[in-house]
Amino acid sequence: MRLVLSQVAYTDLIHHAKTGYPDEICGLLTGRGELVMQIIPTKNGASDTKSAFLIPTGELNDHLPKLRAEGLNLVGFYHSHPNSPAIPSPTDVRELDNGLKLPHVLVGITPPYTDIKGWWIENGQVNLIEIVVGDEFLTEPNSPSTPVQSVAFLLSIGISLVVLITIALTLLPPAPKLP
Ligand SMILES: [Zn+2]
Repeated sequence: MRLVLSQVAYTDLIHHAKTGYPDEICGLLTGRGELVMQIIPTKNGASDTKSAFLIPTGELNDHLPKLRAEGLNLVGFYHSHPNSPAIPSPTDVRELDNGLKLPHVLVGITPPYTDIKGWWIENGQVNLIEIVVGDEFLTEPNSPSTPVQSVAFLLSIGISLVVLITIALTLLPPAPKLP
């Protein structure tokens, strides 16, 4: 598992965390599969927004149909940690282990530094997941190559082998004359 963030998603995420500081901010990661194309900031519904976050269910329910209409999915969630690292707190681990099977991105923000990490929390296990940023990585994973590409690939391997064998043969010393 990894997450690929578009440049826009990454920039907006850092911007949201910085402008929300010193409060915790939160929101939705949207896209397809492992690709996060954009973020949707939500309200932090926690009673103490300096040390907790709560994505309001109402907002989530409002956004989901709109996302589907745009052909996007909910890829995961995010929140920030003002003045602390991007590591899930014991409360995070408890609350994010909720059976939703979605990754979570944490932005640790201690101005002027930001730190971003992805997490997968399931059955009490906290796993760090890779985050890749950049539009050049925004391709659908495991897209099968077309038959033409496969044939071209196999042909190129075949041609390389023939060339290699030919070179090897020309480098061989002449066979010794038999008496
Ligand atoms: Zn947290």
